[in-house]
Amino acid sequence: MTGDSTRAAHAGLPPARQGEPFLPGPTLQAANHWIGAAGPEGYGRTGNPTWAAYEAALGALEGAEAVVLSSGMAAVAAVLLPLLKPGDVLVAPHDAYPGVRTIATEHLRPRGVEVRLVASSDAAFRAATDGATVVWIETPSNPGLELLDVAGLAEAAHAAGALLVVDGTLATPLRQRALDLGADVAMASASKHLTGHSDLVLGYAAARDAALVDGIRGWRSLAGAIPGPFEVWLAHRSLPTLALRLERAEANAAALVDALGEHAAVTDVRWPGFGSVLTFTLADQAVAQRFLAAAELVTEATSFGGVHSSAERRGRWGTDDVPDGLIRFSAGIEDTADLVADVLRALDASDASG
Ligand SMILES: *Cc1c(COP(=O)(O)O)cnc(C)c1O
Repeated sequence: MTGDSTRAAHAGLPPARQGEPFLPGPTLQAANHWIGAAGPEGYGRTGNPTWAAYEAALGALEGAEAVVLSSGMAAVAAVLLPLLKPGDVLVAPHDAYPGVRTIATEHLRPRGVEVRLVASSDAAFRAATDGATVVWIETPSNPGLELLDVAGLAEAAHAAGALLVVDGTLATPLRQRALDLGADVAMASASKHLTGHSDLVLGYAAARDAALVDGIRGWRSLAGAIPGPFEVWLAHRSLPTLALRLERAEANAAALVDALGEHAAVTDVRWPGFGSVLTFTLADQAVAQRFLAAAELVTEATSFGGVHSSAERRGRWGTDDVPDGLIRFSAGIEDTADLVADVLRALDASDASG
């Protein structure tokens, strides 16, 4: 079972048992019947069979042991906080997901961790790894869509005595298996492609080293950064369609890249070649807002990786150094011809009314 759809469809399912469902329903529990010696399954903050099934699925996709958490940011915190103590050094991007650098500057730096924020490029990370404890990269980066050399940076981090953590949210484990490339921890927001319906907030972290997994799981129990079993069950239910959703989104993204590249109103079309997210730049804020208003199949929303196409003017948050007219676009699973026609029509409308 090596194909993407095969793996995604079967991941984490229990062995067949007469009269039982394919995927057991969510187990809602706080206190359980629990007799005798202590165990993580004794209480709902420390263990849950619905988490365990989804973690088995994620683990199968990442080739590692996975820990599910209440959000991508909960996963970020659960990876960073157990690993870093005063005097340690964290290298992280200044141009990627803003939550990571905010934890670094507002919480780790004041507690004595040296924080080095660098641009998402192989050269910048290589130049900053000396003496590092943890090197954190995001690839493809969001919203810059830079692709980093995970294997090369894992080697550089290890040579410096550091661990490499990879945020692979934009890629999903179907397009990037960071641990196979030498990373120590792979984490992602499952609120995006992995669940894919714009209705769940979840995250996970995966590692092969038992001590790293214990650290993440221990933090989850202690901080209570736990997901609801019902949400995790829905996430597991969404996993079998991951490969299909991703393939259609990528076909749509590729077609949009072609169409946008030929449009006079558009500059700097960027797409890593996989995943649903592309960016392009329109003349200014007003044109970008008119485009978003004119597109009928494209919902104005942040986030990405959902079945419905969505887009936003990324500069509205003030968290990223991007041009005023930059659109971050998440290709959904609509029919390609419909989506391309809608986007081209909206571009013409936003141009003409200017
Ligand atoms: C969304 C996102 C996160 C944070 O995930 P949440 O589930 O929103 O907490 C982290 N990293 C990247 C790259 C993201 O896109």
